[in-house]
Amino acid sequence: MSIYDQFGVRTIINAKGSSTRVSGGFLAPEVAAAITEAGQYCVDMADLQSRASNTISELTGAEAGIVTSGAAAALLLGTAACVAGLDPSKMNRLPDTHGMRNEVIMVRSQRNFYDHAVRTVGVKIVEIGLPDRYAGAGVRDAEAWEIGDAITPQTAAILYVMNGNARPALKEVVQVAHQMGVPVIVDAAAQLPPVSNLKRFIAEGADLVAFSGGKAISGPQGTGILCGKHDLIMSAILQNLDLDIDWEQWAPPPFFIDKQRLKGLPQHGIGRTCKIGKEQIVGLLVALKAFVAESDDHRQQRFGEIAKRLQRSIGTLKNATVTFQDGLIPKLVIAVNANAPANARKVMLAMQNGNPSIIADPSRVDQGQIGISPACLRPDEVDKLAARMRELLG
Ligand SMILES: *Cc1c(COP(=O)(O)O)cnc(C)c1O
Repeated sequence: MSIYDQFGVRTIINAKGSSTRVSGGFLAPEVAAAITEAGQYCVDMADLQSRASNTISELTGAEAGIVTSGAAAALLLGTAACVAGLDPSKMNRLPDTHGMRNEVIMVRSQRNFYDHAVRTVGVKIVEIGLPDRYAGAGVRDAEAWEIGDAITPQTAAILYVMNGNARPALKEVVQVAHQMGVPVIVDAAAQLPPVSNLKRFIAEGADLVAFSGGKAISGPQGTGILCGKHDLIMSAILQNLDLDIDWEQWAPPPFFIDKQRLKGLPQHGIGRTCKIGKEQIVGLLVALKAFVAESDDHRQQRFGEIAKRLQRSIGTLKNATVTFQDGLIPKLVIAVNANAPANARKVMLAMQNGNPSIIADPSRVDQGQIGISPACLRPDEVDKLAARMRELLG
């Protein structure tokens, strides 16, 4: 019995990894305890975020940082910061960006569903480059000079979506952007591990970096991090905090929000919608410290052992081959035989529709492969999952 039974919700076996749709992963006991304890007291939210900033800046090398309600929220807040700066009247007007720098440049091949968070601020995305690599024969994508060429007085920021295939290199993008005084926002939501990536994009010159807290960091599902330049973080938090207070009474920590630099107190900003609670902030900080404390090698080994235990428990299948694929987060690949009675997609649907429901990684299902991630498997689920695989493919 779990708390979910009380509300008529069935739990699932998450063999996909920390995806939002399947509720991320699960919390380490120390994170769960921190959340419970945080909920027993009241604090000033600006004070709490200022201390979060100190921890985030220590672990990322950024000047400042805040805990957000997800990486997508971090992208929204970061964009709002690049558009409004420290001008309270601009903050009040968003998403009306009339008369403001209201364009964000993106490499066309990096466009994705999450850039809706950026567009929410009222900016237009200007796409550049042609992903010729897509043609198979092609080797080229957008080049740094094309980004430089696209920058105009309307450009608020460049959004760079990091992954192993991202072109051009971040360092080159930063160079052209900074030459023209334009900030670079990096969407690094799913770029952990390695732990070193917490520092890498800031070190390469990014002005703002967004990470998801509910993915590899294993924080509360609805959390993220926005870190970067102090002024931009100050703008972001001003547009996120509840500001139902008068100027005299308002006393945020000056090292975090320097009141003297503002001509007045803005109203609730566009990011007030991305409210985050004290429980989530504290939970994320505790999870982040634990994430950094575990080495990449140790994490790889820990997940690798779960994957190998699952592989042994599955044994040999008549209709598929199970391979262990090593990596920072190792996984199993179940390749369904071409002559099997049910193809990979049908097997995956049967997994999903069974009891308990098992959700696997569908990204290569059309190539006949079912991906199994150990990252969000509970120890007692390994044998259940193995039994179901034998039932379906054995
Ligand atoms: C997951 C993801 C996001 C969103 O992160 P949340 O923490 O779920 O809001 C944004 N961008 C990319 C590339 C992602 O993979």
